[in-house]
Amino acid sequence: MPFRARYTGLINKYHDRLPLADDARVISLGEGNTPLIRLNNIPRDLGRDVDLYVKFEGLNPTGSFKDRGMTVAVTQAVSAGSRAIICASTGNTSASAAAYAARAGIRAFVLIPDGKIAMGKLAQAIMHGAEVLQIRGNFDAGMRIVKAMAEQAPVTIVNSVNPYRLQGQKTAAFEIVEELERVPDYHCLPVGNAGNITAHWIGYSELALSHGDAATAACSFCSGRCRYNCGIVRERPVMVGYQASGAAPFLRNAMVDDPETVATAIRIGHPQSWDYAWAASRESGGWFDEFPDEAILEAQYQLAAREGVFCEPASAASVAGAMRDIRSGRIPEGSTVVCTLTGHGLKDPDVAQRHAEAAVTTVDATSEAVRDAILGKLD
Ligand SMILES: *Cc1c(COP(=O)(O)O)cnc(C)c1O
Repeated sequence: MPFRARYTGLINKYHDRLPLADDARVISLGEGNTPLIRLNNIPRDLGRDVDLYVKFEGLNPTGSFKDRGMTVAVTQAVSAGSRAIICASTGNTSASAAAYAARAGIRAFVLIPDGKIAMGKLAQAIMHGAEVLQIRGNFDAGMRIVKAMAEQAPVTIVNSVNPYRLQGQKTAAFEIVEELERVPDYHCLPVGNAGNITAHWIGYSELALSHGDAATAACSFCSGRCRYNCGIVRERPVMVGYQASGAAPFLRNAMVDDPETVATAIRIGHPQSWDYAWAASRESGGWFDEFPDEAILEAQYQLAAREGVFCEPASAASVAGAMRDIRSGRIPEGSTVVCTLTGHGLKDPDVAQRHAEAAVTTVDATSEAVRDAILGKLD
């Protein structure tokens, strides 16, 4: 790959670490390269000395981390001659699949649950021209149907059971290590289908294995400073997964048939990457935990109001969890912690609007009224 000064998406950047043909036509919208934001106010409020970062995946082209997987899955599908893709989705996968299919000039069929899909996500799938099939059932039912369709129709599945999805998503771990110039001690994620926690573990594990390999021309993960021996990427983080209490199969250690949560992106009771996620948790010495919806929404609000970062409810489960575990000392002081914020808050405006009544003051359209309101608020 020639050096590119301009960022052109994660396939061009990490081509040598992805299982794609050299001459594959890259289907990209410039995904990846998302900011790693150090939180200031929340750690101070907690009174604990930790370096707490959020990786804001909501700033991907369609507003969620799904784009990392989709660029690779759709590039591979097109390269293999596929003319149509299909997915079941709680919303973000369908938005992403629809956009990348549009970009590639192929068809996208998306199965969404009856109701329980955030407005922003449905709007995206429609605008990108997907065939939207709303099923009378939940995500898990959609997933079963999609898996059957792969044998009955000429369509490529782009859910995270497609291994190219996880390959694309593993690049988030690469970016974090490049940015921090070290491996975080803890990595916290919301868990739904469990593909993303699996993908991060793949990414960190590949780095740990490949680093120090003398056959590598240069270490791209510490700006060439380490000369292979600094050991910064020999470690792997502890992987921590957080679920909503109403959709927490990993906590129950059993599938959940009727998952329910306001965090619709993780309203999943039969995770497809069950074994992989357990392996990541065990091998890393990590754990799973759960939160009621109110705690998730409170963390979402704290992030938006105290740090200026607006993520969707599911994403906030990672920060709700990190805050609790930092406060309790389970994540010890001195740790470097990264939370993945999986999607953008604008995806789900309905949830935010619950705060609106308390937040909006109606005044007359006069300078006096506005001045009085300002002075009243500044008191
Ligand atoms: C897909 C998604 C998740 C869950 O990721 P999994 O890989 O299914 O565990 C969490 N948050 C958001 C916003 C998502 O779109």
